[in-house]
Amino acid sequence: MNETIQVDTLVLGGGPGGYTAAFRAADLGQSVALVDSRGILGGVCLNEGCIPSKALLHLAGIIDEAAEAGRFGISFGKPELDLDAIRGHKEKTVSALTRGLGGLARQRKVQLFTGAGRFTAPDCLSVIKEGEEEREIYFSRAIIATGSHAVKLPFLPADDPRIMDAARALELEDVPDRLLVIGGGIIGMEMATVYSALGSEVTVVELTDQLIPPADPDLVKPLVRMYKKRLKALYTSVSVSAAEAKEEGILVSFAGEKAPAPTLFDRVLVSVGRRPNSGEIGLEELGLSPDEKGFIPVNEKRQTEMDHIYAIGDVTGQPMLAHKAVHEGKVAAEVIAGKASEFSPSAIPSVCYTDPEIAWTGLTEKEAAEKGIPFEKGVFPWSASGRSLSNGRSEGVTKVLYDPESRSILGVGICGSNAGELIAEGNLAVEMGADLEDLSLTIHPHPTLSETLALAAEMAEGTITDLLPPAK
Ligand code: FAD
Repeated sequence: MNETIQVDTLVLGGGPGGYTAAFRAADLGQSVALVDSRGILGGVCLNEGCIPSKALLHLAGIIDEAAEAGRFGISFGKPELDLDAIRGHKEKTVSALTRGLGGLARQRKVQLFTGAGRFTAPDCLSVIKEGEEEREIYFSRAIIATGSHAVKLPFLPADDPRIMDAARALELEDVPDRLLVIGGGIIGMEMATVYSALGSEVTVVELTDQLIPPADPDLVKPLVRMYKKRLKALYTSVSVSAAEAKEEGILVSFAGEKAPAPTLFDRVLVSVGRRPNSGEIGLEELGLSPDEKGFIPVNEKRQTEMDHIYAIGDVTGQPMLAHKAVHEGKVAAEVIAGKASEFSPSAIPSVCYTDPEIAWTGLTEKEAAEKGIPFEKGVFPWSASGRSLSNGRSEGVTKVLYDPESRSILGVGICGSNAGELIAEGNLAVEMGADLEDLSLTIHPHPTLSETLALAAEMAEGTITDLLPPAK
């Protein structure tokens, strides 16, 4: 021991939530310490999540598009893969962003500390790094942004390098001949997209009766149709019951009515959810305890039960998404600086970056059914979109859910190319309390995929001319 440091605001965790909170707090005049065990900012999102997955998905998209071009009379040869260069693209993308964050921290005079942080008193965090002296950071306020980690399945062979989580899969050590993806949620399906494009025979097994479980079934249907062709096999309502490490592969057994026979795989990717990192940070020293799922309860100011402790991002609950963490980070920093900020979004968009992409925001039909919320919908099929057909794609759909009385937009769902970009307009519509006319009378450029939002609203209003208006 030990160097003692005193700051206004301490942030534990340097992911999108944590660095945003630290930077905003510094911009509002606070002295800030930011602690992360990685020695590099960006957390899961930049280092082993959002960004590396999108860098690889971009390359997968090139391979798929080149293969598709054969349908239109343009044939390319079989792709030759240079895995070092592929990893290089991903690593260069990540390091450009993380280096940028380091620079921004320095410019803002945010003090960075590398090591595992643990609260030892209501106003003190100790930071331990192997081979270095323990440091104590005293603070007036703290923001916990420790994120989450991948859930492990206890019955899979422990420590077998052929069993991976998403972070390992993104390292792209090799392209296995036979890959099993356990979990058909967003992360599992994105990784299935990458590895199938690179040449693996991919099998996906999902416990529930639908891929991408939170999305509405009509948005998932086009994806299922396409992935039944591109993947080796796709099972829903099937679980993995056992796995045995053999020299020639991992022998996996399945359970469920439609379960296949035990099958050998060269690698297995487990993507069955994530748990909050709230267990080993000394919450009890702060007088706090997590809920039964491990999340730290917070109010709309992202304040915990202890007034001077805030929590943001994955560690506070669903949806575990980077953009939610970022907004929460700003709110916490602003509240600490005395501003009247709140985290009370009307809608948080979700995107699955498969091909086609699936995106939704605000109310879904599933949620409306669960909560008994009345709604009506307008649906525009992309088989009538000039732009989508020009791109050689007809499988997409855009739908708007609206309040039957006020006709204001309650939610938007899209399946199709670039749905992740298009959903932003739907999100703005929900946030601004826009109604059907606001969408349909806004002139969208032609021919674009964005038109489908206005056309879905026209379907609802019965003013559509590109198709017959639906019978009322
Ligand atoms: P994190 O990013 O998890 O950062 C927390 C940081 O705290 C980590 O660096 C961790 O090492 C550090 N830490 C934890 N405990 C301690 C401690 N005791 N001491 C010091 N440091 C500590 N979200 C999207 O919105 N879009 C996407 O496309 C997307 N894709 C994803 C793809 C994958 C493969 C994965 C795994 C996730 C993806 N996510 C995506 C989710 C997204 O990464 C998370 O929601 C986001 O990173 C959460 O941010 P956070 O700030 O809460 O925490």
